[in-house]
Amino acid sequence: MAGNRTLAIIKPDAFGSGKAGKIIAHLEAQGFTLICARVLHMSKAEAGAFYEVHKGRPFYGELVEFMSSGPCMPMVLQKDDAVSAYRAAIGATDPAEAAEGTVRKLYAESKGRNAVHGSDSDENARHEGMFFFGADALI
Ligand code: ADP
Ligand code: MG
Repeated sequence: MAGNRTLAIIKPDAFGSGKAGKIIAHLEAQGFTLICARVLHMSKAEAGAFYEVHKGRPFYGELVEFMSSGPCMPMVLQKDDAVSAYRAAIGATDPAEAAEGTVRKLYAESKGRNAVHGSDSDENARHEGMFFFGADALI
């Protein structure tokens, strides 16, 4: 059975331009409940460790620079079938390809600076939840 929690991040582009409240309100209106949240400015080492799975990809350096460029807001969100429900709510990685009404369509600037992160599996949600919240994430 699919899990009911996922790990989201409001990335530095959206957090720094004051969109956190709008994004959280948008997600709550779609039935997500906020379980844990914090604001932190990741070091390059922390951002590099979080995105270790992408090490070696051509965009890895740019991604680590961006994610350590300012504060971001990791959150644990709850809803039935949370991972796939949240990925549907945020839309495609590139906002130019994201469906109307999705968070990335509404709030993202580009494929790199794309407003939000979302786990892509229950296993990664647990791993990413532990990264930011330790056992409190309860994913
Ligand atoms: P998603 O965040 O939709 O799961 P990926 O896991 O493929 O996407 O990529 C992680 C993040 O890396 C993306 O959200 C985006 O910020 C960045 N990224 C991915 N592909 C590119 C690219 N071609 N150019 C620049 N940044 C990218
Ligand atoms: Mg991903």
